[in-house]
Amino acid sequence: MKLTLGLVEELTGGRILRGAPDLELFDVVVDSRTTLPGQCLFVAIEGARFDGHGFVSQAIARGAAAVLVHRGAADDYPEGAVVIVDNTLRALQQLAAGWRARFEGPVIGITGSNGKTIVKDMLAAIVGQRRTVYRSPGSYNSQVGVPLAVLGIRAQHEIALIEAGISQPGEMELLEAIVGPTAGIVTNIGLAHAAGLKDLETTAREKLRLFAHLDEGALIYPAGDPTLARCVLAGRPVPVDVRLEGQRPPADVPGYVVFDVHANSAGFGFRARLPDASEHDFALHVPGEHNIYNAAAAIAMASELGCSPEEIRQGLAGFELSEMRLEMHTTQGGVTLINDAYNSDPISARAALGVLKRYSGGQRTVAIVGDMLDLGVRGPGAHRDLGEVVARVGVDLLVCMGELAGLVGEGARQNGMAAEQVHEVADFDALHEFLEAELVPGDVVLFKASRNIGLERAAQRLLESVAPTRLIIDLDAIADNFHAIRRRIGPKTGLMAVVKSFGYGNDATRVAQTLIQQGVDALAVAYPDEAIALRKKGLTIPILVTNVLEPEADKIPKYDLTALVYSLPVARALQRHGERRNKIVPVHLEVDTGMNRVGLEPAASAAFATALGAMANLRIEGVMTHFAAADDAAEDDFTRAQIAAFEGVLVELRGLGLALPHVHAANTAAAWRFPEARYDLVRIGLGLYGLHPGRAVAEQATSTRPALRMTTRVIHLHDIEAGQSVGYGRTFRAAAPVRLATIAVGYNDGFPRFMSNGGEVLIGGERCAVAGNVCMDVAMVDVSAVAGVEIGDEVVLFGTQGAATISVDEWAARGRTINYEILCNLSPRVRRIFLKT
Ligand SMILES: *Cc1c(COP(=O)(O)O)cnc(C)c1O
Repeated sequence: MKLTLGLVEELTGGRILRGAPDLELFDVVVDSRTTLPGQCLFVAIEGARFDGHGFVSQAIARGAAAVLVHRGAADDYPEGAVVIVDNTLRALQQLAAGWRARFEGPVIGITGSNGKTIVKDMLAAIVGQRRTVYRSPGSYNSQVGVPLAVLGIRAQHEIALIEAGISQPGEMELLEAIVGPTAGIVTNIGLAHAAGLKDLETTAREKLRLFAHLDEGALIYPAGDPTLARCVLAGRPVPVDVRLEGQRPPADVPGYVVFDVHANSAGFGFRARLPDASEHDFALHVPGEHNIYNAAAAIAMASELGCSPEEIRQGLAGFELSEMRLEMHTTQGGVTLINDAYNSDPISARAALGVLKRYSGGQRTVAIVGDMLDLGVRGPGAHRDLGEVVARVGVDLLVCMGELAGLVGEGARQNGMAAEQVHEVADFDALHEFLEAELVPGDVVLFKASRNIGLERAAQRLLESVAPTRLIIDLDAIADNFHAIRRRIGPKTGLMAVVKSFGYGNDATRVAQTLIQQGVDALAVAYPDEAIALRKKGLTIPILVTNVLEPEADKIPKYDLTALVYSLPVARALQRHGERRNKIVPVHLEVDTGMNRVGLEPAASAAFATALGAMANLRIEGVMTHFAAADDAAEDDFTRAQIAAFEGVLVELRGLGLALPHVHAANTAAAWRFPEARYDLVRIGLGLYGLHPGRAVAEQATSTRPALRMTTRVIHLHDIEAGQSVGYGRTFRAAAPVRLATIAVGYNDGFPRFMSNGGEVLIGGERCAVAGNVCMDVAMVDVSAVAGVEIGDEVVLFGTQGAATISVDEWAARGRTINYEILCNLSPRVRRIFLKT
């Protein structure tokens, strides 16, 4: 499945006005306002309020390689490939339908009035453990969104989950033709708010059109929905019955039955009976009783798709709500903050409390709750209910600020929270004082309120009490980059994430947790202690340690790690400790094919393997080598010679009868550039962050995006006269009057001294040059050309601000170094902030 300009022409019945038919397109977009993925097709949709034809040049400027239009001639579009059709909306839908027809895996259509996205995400969490799942993004569920969602399916996907919603009668028929589901889920039909019974039924029948051609495909539906019960269901109807109250349901209830539901501090536990009459216990770490219905639907579909009960149990237990954008950070004082003070409603507040409890790792939890706005007459009741959740989840300390928030405290006390665990504060100063007096290292603190309450400012104050410089790590971008690389390497090759050096300066734990949720196969680190830190955080995934020294060999069996070996003394030490602990130590052999760093001489590899063969507590599970210059096209002959030498060793080792389940060689650069070097596993470090080892890789890796952004703030502003100097050594002299901003970042933070005099930062969306030498803790920049700069303004050191972007590569070029070194040099003083949808 490769989307080319020629295929676009064919499927839409359009005509190429300019461009090569074999031009490959990696994505399809309709919105030119955001950053576009590289080499995409921009479809100019003409809507009631805006017309995409007016944004074609903007889309091209932002990286679109081709445009689909229904007006104008080639000359009207000065750049890029152009395909013309009669109607771009229809063409987009035809393109999607044609694309769908090429996908052979199961396609699960999901519709209903509520819960579609959550059911989709739960199902993905379950099925995605062993299969590559595509799921339609966010709530892309309209006439334009569904086609775009379908166009995101790639050959590597084994199954696709597509959400479809409608706003008008007649729409679903069209979506059915695009989605072409092979099985389906209908979550429910309009609850309280729907107008009349007649309307409800019309809605139901309309939604069910998505499944008009299911044939034998399962159609999962809630047995308890009275409206659906009156409708004729297509396909093979599979009822799902949820019994929140009461006892075990009778044996003749058909389909799937969920019962014995009980809430606990982590969410819910319940039992499900499958159609084969077997019963299994499940845990759901998501608040909100309605999610039990969603989980039940996901369980039923996963089971219909062939997942075992154990697989379903694990997938569901690992599921997290993806509705919130949470920031998590640990202050220097050791307090972890979860900042979710941007919006609050009963559902997201419950979810945030669940996250608080789960990320607390047994430490004391503190919830700081402000008002949830816009709830109207439901407000007081909803706040009291939230108090009940606070008590039930088992928060240790509740702090309420605001009129309605007081009711949260009331609700919590009524539900068993001790009076001394509940505090009310009148204003920010009181809150701040309370926190200063009360918080101790280890505490995990949640800030939760609607934005206009201003609670986010209090969180800010707590955070910036040390230094305002931050590294913002977008965990969603890391997850997306992981999938982009997985798509590239295909389903047969595993992915080992290299999280050495504190996850390339990011924080190995949180990056690793994210990747594990996405289905990474293994981790690699440089030294045993790095792996131990991950084990102590509860990660049980295989971890390969690349540098094991003899005195540390004991740590490998002790923590169930895998060692890279190339020296006999280390191998003997591993054998000895394995024997002592009565464990088999998995090892991979490292062969040095030209890096001349560490590893076995190719000629000596077979003899070494034979020697290890005699060590009863070692098991050779793999063999690897490492490339010296896979990122450099000028050295491709050398890389190919490394591959050839490695192949020779593989032949010899296999000749010894070794199974070698894990053969690996490729780093990020080779994973993109040398398909023949992918073997069973690739070892990816830098690429996960959307950064590239070099130009030749950047050209290939257009489907990844930067996951890192570094910012600080303006802390002082002043004007100097012509002739005055700036900073240590007086290396900058003003030729004319200059407005200077002092920013709170210096070489201690990892803002290198080579940024002095001319390195640039972004303020107000403009590039501003550093004036004078970078100091240890601050730097001065020339903001003469930027209007309205104020103390406290955000400064972007790398990343995007407004329309401007500074890349880590730009720093690296200035300092004649590589992006890897820049990341590793960011100091611990820089606060790491993790973003997660
Ligand atoms: C660091 C490292 C990698 C990862 O390299 P990237 O270029 O960051 O992908 C892979 N293998 C080994 C042995 C390494 O040391």
